[in-house]
Amino acid sequence: MPGSARELLGRVFGYDRFRGQQEAIVEHTIAGGDSLVLMPTGGGKSLCYQLPALVRPGAAVVVSPLIALMRDQVDTLLQTGVRAACLNSTLAYGEVLDVEDRLRAGGIDLLYVAPERLLGERTLALLDEVELALFAIDEAHCVSQWGHDFRPEYLQLSALHERFPAVPRIALTATADEPTRREIRERLRLQDARVFIAGFDRPNIRYRVVPKQSPREQLARLLDNEHRGDAGIVYCLSRRRVEETAEWLRARGVDARPYHAGLGGRVRGDTQDAFVRGEGVVIVATIAFGMGIDKPDVRFVAHLDLPKSLEAYYQETGRAGRDGLPATAWMAYGLQDVITLRQMVDGSEAGEARKRLEIRKLDAMLGYCELTTCRRRTLLAYFGETLGEACGNCDNCLEPPESWDATEAAQQALSCVYRTGQRFGVGYVIDVLRGKDDDRIRRFGHDRLTTFGIGADLDARQWRSVIRQLVARGLLRVDVEKYGSLQLTAAARPVLRGEATVELRRDALPARKPRAPRETRDRVQSVLGAESQPLFDALRARRRELAAEQGVPPYVIFHDASLMEMAERRPRTLDEFAAIPGVGATKLERYGEMFIAIIRTHESEGRAPAAAAP
Ligand code: ADP
Ligand code: ZN
Repeated sequence: MPGSARELLGRVFGYDRFRGQQEAIVEHTIAGGDSLVLMPTGGGKSLCYQLPALVRPGAAVVVSPLIALMRDQVDTLLQTGVRAACLNSTLAYGEVLDVEDRLRAGGIDLLYVAPERLLGERTLALLDEVELALFAIDEAHCVSQWGHDFRPEYLQLSALHERFPAVPRIALTATADEPTRREIRERLRLQDARVFIAGFDRPNIRYRVVPKQSPREQLARLLDNEHRGDAGIVYCLSRRRVEETAEWLRARGVDARPYHAGLGGRVRGDTQDAFVRGEGVVIVATIAFGMGIDKPDVRFVAHLDLPKSLEAYYQETGRAGRDGLPATAWMAYGLQDVITLRQMVDGSEAGEARKRLEIRKLDAMLGYCELTTCRRRTLLAYFGETLGEACGNCDNCLEPPESWDATEAAQQALSCVYRTGQRFGVGYVIDVLRGKDDDRIRRFGHDRLTTFGIGADLDARQWRSVIRQLVARGLLRVDVEKYGSLQLTAAARPVLRGEATVELRRDALPARKPRAPRETRDRVQSVLGAESQPLFDALRARRRELAAEQGVPPYVIFHDASLMEMAERRPRTLDEFAAIPGVGATKLERYGEMFIAIIRTHESEGRAPAAAAP
């Protein structure tokens, strides 16, 4: 399939322009250069190797870590008329032979291969026989032994360079931090590769952090008010919490399913499938879920527990809104999160250096949670990027939080911790501050302390907020070996002595009265005119049927964004239809007439006063 990259972009993929650095990467790869591509999730990495694969002679080999998801990538390409196939352990022997024959005959442009499969002698020998356009190594951060996605097979991919020195390689990842980048370059022998770093901003994602009160209720409210019927992912730290949350959501009518390492491979595969193929499935998962899932229409990612680092947080939230339509990244965060994570870090078998690194990462995460300024700006700064002005699309930008002079409260809390001997946890300290009538307090004689009852003017929730923020800022630490007892740090001293003031964020009160439910359709309407909604629904229904017939996810046929354009622009000829983003030559031929017919029917029915959407 020859042609210039730009021409193929329109003809095959139906896009009229490259995004960001795509063009430079494509050109570099076509010219035979090696590269390392760092781009956020949803940034458009696939095109960076798919287009050169079509322009360069021979077959491109794509290394991808998750077998279950290769099929979707191949289906997506087949829909656009690209000759794609995969080689992995799920294929029957006959299918393997068939793929091998097609490859030898020059009938495959893109071959997706699992790393362990690729490095087998049979596959390597096969590749010796054919012309190779390039190697693409997707999710390249899997070579990093420090990262949470480490895959030992990835380490051996450096062998590709030795065996096929003339074939250009392109490694791609959404993990941007410098140590990972260095590891990828070393381990994959990409020291001389050109590095392309795309902007990491995901402007369509709205970042929100709420103080944790009753997390499940808060989550339910989010779903009811803003994401009814939407696909989404809810992350929790423990399996038990995953199970409980999924069950609880199901009882409320949400199509929620649990996903964690304790479930069998079969169940996990089915769950993943249901998510990818469905339109409104919510996955409740431990962090093990999500890598390599290219579902473009995930409308929200919710964290019920604090992630371990901003890297993990950004990667997880990045799974929302790949299609560029509005999406939500929401997190409930509280003092217990800090304690639990500290506990995990301290209790781990890791060496001291590793622990210090983890604590630093956790601190950055806490700092993010407690921000009173633009969250996006801080996130991007963490990844080395500067955002000129506040984003206008995070909670702090949209509803600037109040802060208050908490110096006195901080002094009271710190001195209460000190006077009770730095041996007690949050609950006890708050009880003493509030002057609770309590046997234990009397037994310790703490009812005679000067700090007993000194803080009765704040309620327990407010005190938790104060202490959480003091911990997050490092004025207090939680000793996890001593049952979560609070202890002062050196940073507390100037505050106790009255030499430093403390400004704290005033946590918003939980909304007692639920807002009038806003359904998905209203959200979509903020992008789509209200009058286009019925047509959009009709187009979606047709897409759903096609997807079911062909056994592929709906978005493989058309993205929501393409359907919205159709509903807005209402193309009535094939030429007009071809101008819709995401419509290339193959989709035009397969689906053009069919969708135009729906638009026509709809228009004529729409004029009749009592007509309903088909
Ligand atoms: P990544 O792998 O970086 O997460 P993808 O390659 O899946 O991202 O692309 C994200 C989405 O952006 C896909 O739905 C893709 O179709 C779309 N996309 C990619 N490049 C372009 C482009 N040049 N114009 C319009 N849409 C694009
Ligand atoms: Zn902002």
